[in-house]
Amino acid sequence: MRLLKWLNDRIVESHTHIPLDAFLIPVSVFSQNIWDLLSLWSDLSKLEVHSETTFNIVDFDDTLFSRYEQLQRNEFQDNRGEEGNKFLREEFGFRKFIEEFYSRSRAVKRILWVVEWQTEKHRSLILTAGMQDLQELKVQSLDISRETVPVVTVDSSHKKPLKMIQYIIKTLGFVPWKIIIYEDRPECFQWEMSALRQLLPRTEIVIDKVVLNPAWSLRQIKSIHQSIYQVSWKK
Ligand SMILES: [Mg+2]
Repeated sequence: MRLLKWLNDRIVESHTHIPLDAFLIPVSVFSQNIWDLLSLWSDLSKLEVHSETTFNIVDFDDTLFSRYEQLQRNEFQDNRGEEGNKFLREEFGFRKFIEEFYSRSRAVKRILWVVEWQTEKHRSLILTAGMQDLQELKVQSLDISRETVPVVTVDSSHKKPLKMIQYIIKTLGFVPWKIIIYEDRPECFQWEMSALRQLLPRTEIVIDKVVLNPAWSLRQIKSIHQSIYQVSWKK
């Protein structure tokens, strides 16, 4: 006991953090170690929660815009992911690609309404994976208002959850009461849900998995599969 007292007497400053066992996933896109996650948690906990404010996170390809038409073509079927990007940039050309597939097309209207309707209590962000310059061109060519709807690109979809948190901290400046994620492939968020629930305990997170009608002439939502992650934080 004497030894303990001796040690305690040497403590000049002490911070009490949330118990570490609350952070079950120290290694994820949020962190290489527990301190990355705690640092985000600390930044978020300083922000106000805006009650009744919804923040929409909207994917672009196959959520706002169907790639069905492109994928009928062999050169695009055979070149997906990194290879597809290389093929587009170096062989097919961005301008030709945009001109052929996006310029005379329209975004999925019902989601676009959600995206473009920006008010104090309803904010939206297009969060897309791919190449920044190409994704910007796509959004512009569909006449989505760039003045009201920000577009943020990550190089790989698994970085979307972290980017969303960074956007809340650095740009939004408040914690939304509700987040609705519109995605054709929401796995990137679902895999990180445990970390997200810990970082945003006061926010309900809704995932709307969007399935589009494939044919370009029927560019509309076929179905939405909704998952609701309720608030876990109690006052
Ligand atoms: Mg997508």
